[in-house]
Amino acid sequence: MGPTLHALSIHVDYRCAGTSLCCASGWRIPVERSVRQHITRLMAEGRIAVPGGETDPEVLFERCDELPESRSALLGTRGGRCVFLEDSGLCAIHRQAGHSALPSECQHFPRICVLHPLGVSVTLSHLCPTAAEMLFREDRPLAIVVNPPILSERETWEGLDAREALPPMICPDALMRWEDHAHWERHMVATLARGDLTPEQALGLLAAQGEMIRSWRESDGEFSEHLRRCCDEGRPSESGSHGLGIESTEAIFRELLHCIPPSAQIGPPPCLDHFADHLGRSVQPHWLEFQGPIRRYLASKAFANWIAYQGQGMRSALFAVIAAHASLRVHAALRCEEAGRPLDRDLLREAIRDSDLLLVHRMSRELFTALCDRRELDVSDHLTT
Ligand code: SF4
Repeated sequence: MGPTLHALSIHVDYRCAGTSLCCASGWRIPVERSVRQHITRLMAEGRIAVPGGETDPEVLFERCDELPESRSALLGTRGGRCVFLEDSGLCAIHRQAGHSALPSECQHFPRICVLHPLGVSVTLSHLCPTAAEMLFREDRPLAIVVNPPILSERETWEGLDAREALPPMICPDALMRWEDHAHWERHMVATLARGDLTPEQALGLLAAQGEMIRSWRESDGEFSEHLRRCCDEGRPSESGSHGLGIESTEAIFRELLHCIPPSAQIGPPPCLDHFADHLGRSVQPHWLEFQGPIRRYLASKAFANWIAYQGQGMRSALFAVIAAHASLRVHAALRCEEAGRPLDRDLLREAIRDSDLLLVHRMSRELFTALCDRRELDVSDHLTT
């Protein structure tokens, strides 16, 4: 029997729709040494033909010294398109040699998994247009579901392996139990699903409850009961606090840009000179029209959140969700600026894709964890910048 699977209700029937846009997003994809050798052999045997007849190994696989030895190269790109992507939109490797010949990043995309003692939690990267579209669905309530039948068809799960790790931290000197973390995670998703709170109010409430939870002392009794009590209490604070104000949004976004390693830089950083103007004029008046997809996007960050497992506490983990909110808001303003029109469904969907390109595929996980941990470790700075 396989592990118990956990996924968001909106993601469980994900199927690749073959848009191929992901393979042309400028995403830097590492290739395992063994996969590179296998593809090279298949090419030499004439079993894989690359678009344009390209055979130069330096073009097909770009060296990257920042990667671990087992994945010392990236898939080559031309103008942001993977060199193996055919004009038809199909992948040359997949079409000619099958799914198993692909680098593991391509095989697993867009799934983002955490393996832990209670099972496997699976969320999706919304760089994939099909996954991004799933955030707009209204046909089911937002919740964490267990053992969804379609996701269970996969046999292997790769991702952050926390099966042998200590459970997530409450703060730098205290751990919670795995069941407590699962309860807090379910509570975060349920709070973000609440129709009586805006996405910002929901985040504000979670931040306030998180602070109450992490203030636990032994004299408060069992931590599990304290956590459950705190989840039933608290009120959302002002939307300008907890990193949700406009100035904080811009400041957090600039910090996110510093988490992109040199190998993942694509052109100059976005110009934020008119960000506040476009946010106020083109995004904010329409933001709440799209609060459904926005709250689902934030839930996809609160659930299966790697920072909860790798960071130093609850503030770090929640900051990762607040950072996703900032990233989405800035990308929405940039999309509106580029299109010269107010926020609409298409612009929001593209902003969601832009946001996950940055958060999931371009930023260094180590640098982002360190950024989130600054909220945990710097008491004067926490959750208020
Ligand atoms: S190898 Fe194939 S699946 Fe992977 S990015 Fe390139 S075209 Fe896409």
